[in-house]
Amino acid sequence: MKKIILTGDRPTGHLHLGHYVGSLRERVELQNSNTFDEIYIEIADAQALTDNADNPEKVRKNVLQVALDYLSVGIDPSRACIFIQSAIPAIAELTVYYLNLVTVARLERNPTVKAEIQQKHFEASIPAGFMCYPVSQAADITAFMATTVPVGEDQEPMLEQTREIVRKFNDIYGETLVEPSIYLTTNKAGLRLPGIDGKAKMSKSLGNGIYLCDTPEDVEKKIMSMYTDPTHLRRDDPGHLEGNTVFTYLDAFCRPEYFPEFLPEYANLDELKAHYTKGGLGDVKVKRFLNKVMQAELEPIRARRHEWDQHLDDVMDILKDGTAKANAKANETLHSVKKAMRINYFEDGNLLK
Ligand code: ATP
Ligand code: MG
Repeated sequence: MKKIILTGDRPTGHLHLGHYVGSLRERVELQNSNTFDEIYIEIADAQALTDNADNPEKVRKNVLQVALDYLSVGIDPSRACIFIQSAIPAIAELTVYYLNLVTVARLERNPTVKAEIQQKHFEASIPAGFMCYPVSQAADITAFMATTVPVGEDQEPMLEQTREIVRKFNDIYGETLVEPSIYLTTNKAGLRLPGIDGKAKMSKSLGNGIYLCDTPEDVEKKIMSMYTDPTHLRRDDPGHLEGNTVFTYLDAFCRPEYFPEFLPEYANLDELKAHYTKGGLGDVKVKRFLNKVMQAELEPIRARRHEWDQHLDDVMDILKDGTAKANAKANETLHSVKKAMRINYFEDGNLLK
């Protein structure tokens, strides 16, 4: 069986460090490992519209921004196909058939959707499209016969729902679709990176992010204002690491070589942590170190973005070619699905017999 990746992001804003550490960094590694036969990366504009129907301009203008974010982290369009979801009609068509394989009660139980409904204050007026987006996500994944989905931990319930749909489809209509697996980062801190405010998840919608395209000055300002340990009032007080965002970010981004380069008085992160918990190490010093780490991590990303920014026509061509390739693949799947369901009437010579 072919090894195929499908992953993507909603164009609701620029991509941030949470996306980077939770998913983008892994995607680039998987791409460069050359162990996958096909890689598809979706800019999920149709999904973004499920909770932004009244603000289509926001979604529209971020499509190009997300494409730039991809290219700037090192997604290589000659190896990975970047495409726009709404330009793939087969995904919408598959969604219609899959909706019949899911109950409303099951959708209401989806923990990610539940949390997002609360976060977005929908209360009683949940858009039906939003409620059903896990089904359209099953269509995204299966349209490409994806075996592997590198995403953040919050997407696990979506993958589970997709596998249920695949099993139900194959049970009723015969073996057609592939059950996908989630691919999570091995970096524990990156599974769900908190925001700079210490809230559970850095998220575009919560406005608590450091963006890949932020200027060096913005990054520094955000880091210096970050949530740490509210009980660590004086430098000599013992500090706590749990829930301390600055240390979570160091766990996510710090490489051993940054110590000799930026903070040679400590051998490694464990030594720094030990000093902090014992007391005698101030937050400002740790934040300054984190700032140097983040600037070093972000610099090559900024440089690549600057390059692509000068060639936006090429970026549009990449999206156009990627979308054409993605359409061919998704149409093939839709064809197999309709054949399995026996609704391929005009190909089915047996219909009149
Ligand atoms: P929105 O608020 O519009 O939903 P978002 O910031 O949650 O935006 P998405 O586009 O929904 O971003 O998520 C894209 C991908 O990035 C998903 O795989 C998701 O799991 C991952 N991701 C998003 N935020 C984080 C985070 N803070 N830590 C780890 N992974 C994340
Ligand atoms: Mg989200």
